[in-house]
Amino acid sequence: MVGVNNFISLSKAGLYCIPGDFYLDPKRIVQTAVISHAHGDHAVPNNVNVYCTKGTRELMAMRYNASARSVFHLKEYREAFDIRGVKISFYPAGHILGSAQILLEYNSERYLYTGDFKLQDDNSCEAFEFVECDHLITETTFADPTYDHPEPIAEILSLNEFDQNVVIGAYAVGKAQRITKLLADHCPDKMVFVHNGVAAFHRVYEEHSRSLGEWMPYRRQEFLDSRNAVYILPPAHFARYSRNKTVLKIFATGWKRSYYSCDRILRISDHADWNDVLTLVRKTKTKQVYTVHGDGSHLIHHLKDSGIGIRKLA
Ligand SMILES: [Zn+2]
Ligand SMILES: [Zn+2]
Repeated sequence: MVGVNNFISLSKAGLYCIPGDFYLDPKRIVQTAVISHAHGDHAVPNNVNVYCTKGTRELMAMRYNASARSVFHLKEYREAFDIRGVKISFYPAGHILGSAQILLEYNSERYLYTGDFKLQDDNSCEAFEFVECDHLITETTFADPTYDHPEPIAEILSLNEFDQNVVIGAYAVGKAQRITKLLADHCPDKMVFVHNGVAAFHRVYEEHSRSLGEWMPYRRQEFLDSRNAVYILPPAHFARYSRNKTVLKIFATGWKRSYYSCDRILRISDHADWNDVLTLVRKTKTKQVYTVHGDGSHLIHHLKDSGIGIRKLA
């Protein structure tokens, strides 16, 4: 059996597959990158060769004009391909449009890197798919028993209690589209305005047949004249509303507290919570878990006597 350390190592540029000579979500420019999804901490521009889904490429192209310099090798979900004898396939991660778990098969061992993932329903992207593996490499952002994400529909319905204008701060890629879709489905009386920096990503979603319902680019006067409108904008722009008393300020986050000053939080997260991480471990039937991203200590403690090996990938 090839142990994970003969197969994957953690270098300064990120997770490196030794026999395949490629990186998973490298943090620096490399020759060959296999990229799980388009968020900035997973997808840097200008790698020489990039393997990813079409959704990821389109979101990267919108984010980085320079990404044209890379050669993109686009793969469908479940379409196996090979890099130097390592068989690779993508499975939906349920995180954002195009997000993928990356399954690596080598010498009859199956290594699954989840990237960021969630199990909760999200009509704005492809639904998570369980994949069995021998070695599971996963994020532990909210792998803490005190994190039990509420139902997103209940969270969004709570906005119907307010009959005043609301501004919602949300990450421009993924979160903003999910909230737009939830508003369209559950708060049909609200007019939804979207900041320009968000609208560009909305259009990428729609080009991928992900309908987000009724929304329009922000028009200041129309927003000011209305009494029941929502304006979705990226965090940096949201921060400028901190002293504004005429609107209700809500920040969307899975964390219990918002880093940005706001009147309340919309507890909508695109990451798995504690129970979802445990479900992942159980359903993948893995023998060994490796944590990356976040504090894995709760999970390490929890699985200690389970018969499943666990450690931080180092
Ligand atoms: Zn992400
Ligand atoms: Zn991430």
